[in-house]
Amino acid sequence: MGTFRNLTVSGLLTVALATVELPIGFSAHLGRWMTVRAHHAHASGDHSAATGALPTPPVRHGSVMQRKFPYPYRAMLAIASDADGMTLRKFILIHRYLNTFANTSMGRGLGLDIADSFFFFVGTDRPGAIDARHTPWQDQMSYYYRLSTDDLHDARAIVHFSRIGWIDSLHGLGDFSMVDQTNTLFERRYAETALRTMRENNLRYTVWINHGNRSNVANFGSPESTYQQGDLTQSPYYVADLMVQSGVQYIWTRRDSEFGLKSMLYPITLRDGVKRWGFYRYTDDGYDQLGDLLWNWNPAQLAKQLSPDHLQMIENRHLYAIVAQHLGGNDTENPVYGANLLALINLAHACREGRILVARTSRLLQYNEVQQWIHYTVRYSGVHADIDIDQIRDPVLGWRQPTLDDLRGVTFYSSSPRQTRIIVSGHAVPEARLQYNQTDYTGKPSISIPWWPANTLDNSLAPGVGSDAGDASDNERNGEKPSNPALTAPKTPTLPRAPVIPPIWIWREDHL
Ligand SMILES: [Zn+2]
Repeated sequence: MGTFRNLTVSGLLTVALATVELPIGFSAHLGRWMTVRAHHAHASGDHSAATGALPTPPVRHGSVMQRKFPYPYRAMLAIASDADGMTLRKFILIHRYLNTFANTSMGRGLGLDIADSFFFFVGTDRPGAIDARHTPWQDQMSYYYRLSTDDLHDARAIVHFSRIGWIDSLHGLGDFSMVDQTNTLFERRYAETALRTMRENNLRYTVWINHGNRSNVANFGSPESTYQQGDLTQSPYYVADLMVQSGVQYIWTRRDSEFGLKSMLYPITLRDGVKRWGFYRYTDDGYDQLGDLLWNWNPAQLAKQLSPDHLQMIENRHLYAIVAQHLGGNDTENPVYGANLLALINLAHACREGRILVARTSRLLQYNEVQQWIHYTVRYSGVHADIDIDQIRDPVLGWRQPTLDDLRGVTFYSSSPRQTRIIVSGHAVPEARLQYNQTDYTGKPSISIPWWPANTLDNSLAPGVGSDAGDASDNERNGEKPSNPALTAPKTPTLPRAPVIPPIWIWREDHL
């Protein structure tokens, strides 16, 4: 509870807009409606055509085909937030509003599935503060305290929020941005510690988002980059082997000015020969007349990123969108005010109305992969149709037999959903596990494997999620970790700086 004692509301506008509220529990309503219908279908859609049951028409030959997005949505969107400048206090403030229906200083929460990234370590000498409490950049939200491999900082909270789905992405292995970009404090042992930590806590992150400036030598996946060494086997900064072992499947490597794409994925072959998916994020609006990049991934630009035109466009064209952000990136703590608040409410309405499915990045990417590479056969026999899903024939990650969780959201049109079965790896999915859908905007009914159940519970105040650095509020009030000469790093790290090899730098990232 400690981190909420001193909540501030930033600005009059926020106070005024905080009264704009969404209907209570809209996602819960949607979920319940779908469950009820699935149950109804289960009761009345018996294939044995029991006496008294309403007749269901035979499946029309050729009517079964895959629907691009989970029913009833027409597009899918994720907000992928980088951990730069985040504190545990900001994180809870932001995600209570985004993910739950709790009453917050910004109004009633939106109940959206939006996850963040996190740092394991902080090895930056960046001067200045990340909030009004003068928290230094060195004390960003991180698993370990600065560069210690055994002194925990926000570890318990990060484990907790990873388990409940408010965190789903690795932002590199930490913030290793140095003022002098020819230096770095990174060492491979940090990746080894991170891998061990993930295994010990049974955590798996499929999404890797490269972070920071050229000092972040463990970045990998961009063929144009000359500073990235994370996938160079002969480099002391080689980490890709460990990260692939940890479960990384999707890698963000580069800026992109396009909002909305047919697919977010493109293949990458790392320099150690391993293939992974790269994915696009909307980070900027191209270049201005002077050749400067027009970044839009600062919270101040959130409303522009989520403009009504953008949302309408992905809906009309049935596209995916992943919006890059730095939700904790400003020192005002609360990024959700004014036009941003309205843009998020607008997005929440689009989700509630079944138009745009808002999903955490890892879920969007998994769905995107499965939607593209699902392999199935349709058999029509008598009045029935069987949709036999045998494999995900992913050309990058490899072919595999899907689990039901792999197939969440997968939807097929069928002229008679109740006469249609879905078979996964040789086993018919029980009707109770299926969702039977009425006609959508195309006029066609469908059958689905249900999307992930909504989790809008306010788990932010669960016991044990406070900072590991003692009492969080005391810690923040002092702006420094409680003094312990053996553990407390100085504001400017004085660890020996290893030279970066080779010192040819062309990449510029995370320009806040
Ligand atoms: Zn970053």
